[in-house]
Amino acid sequence: MTETPRNPLGVHALVWAGGTDPESMRHAVDSSKQAGYDLLEISLHDTESLDVAGTRAAAERAGLGLVCSRGLGFDADVSSPDPEVSARGEALLADSVRIARDLGAEYFAGALYSALGKYDRPLDPRGRAHVVAALGRIAQLAAESGMTLGLEVVNRYESNVVNTAEQGLQLIDEVGASNLKLHLDTYHMNIEEDDLARPVRRAGDRLGYVHIGENHRGYLGSGHLDFTAFFHALSDVDYRGPITFESFSSAVVAPGLSHDLAIWRNLWDDGADLARHAREFMANQVHAAGLR
Ligand code: MN
Repeated sequence: MTETPRNPLGVHALVWAGGTDPESMRHAVDSSKQAGYDLLEISLHDTESLDVAGTRAAAERAGLGLVCSRGLGFDADVSSPDPEVSARGEALLADSVRIARDLGAEYFAGALYSALGKYDRPLDPRGRAHVVAALGRIAQLAAESGMTLGLEVVNRYESNVVNTAEQGLQLIDEVGASNLKLHLDTYHMNIEEDDLARPVRRAGDRLGYVHIGENHRGYLGSGHLDFTAFFHALSDVDYRGPITFESFSSAVVAPGLSHDLAIWRNLWDDGADLARHAREFMANQVHAAGLR
């Protein structure tokens, strides 16, 4: 194994393939490595077709680290006031932690506290209590495998539990697990935060994972986000965790997940060109901000 870089640069598998079947995963692993990435993030939305041992072996051969992420559906939502629905969500999270462990992943990230979709009412206090209790148990399970959980802050159209870094930090404090960290995504921050720098400085060493996405989730630099300010803030708090590029287009469709994320438009066709461009963009920002 090569030494882990200070800020490993990652790419989301949806840049390469919508499915999680063995061929898709091999393609994602090889292409990520070819594009110069250190990490590949795999969404666990379809674990039935995922060859865990084969994917792990392919990543190890390529010298590529793996990270897992996932969202939940409304029928298995940990934030539901209904104990049965909440328990189904927790069971899915526990399964995902075990799969992430078997893949050799050090991080399991995403909106782990909620269904991924638009709610038609505010969060129920009983639902919030379910989230705090469930995340405590999931964090314990993850800790047993030395895994860090990233609590991803998402916009108001994808959850009613946590929409700002401040709310995320509050939830993390309530759960009180040292391996539960904040996960910020510039795409969501653009909608909900005052700017791209303050939430990073506020989180400080409680920031554990980062998604880099444009305001429309297309090519980095083709939108209006102030990435310079964001990377300066990462440098200011001496952030040392992964920095993962996330982009979606209707050119690559994951059944379920693409619809949950409202990916209706074709923002790019050539995932390889997109990924190479993003790798260079992020490496330049990291370098210019003095991160490594
Ligand atoms: Mn994200």
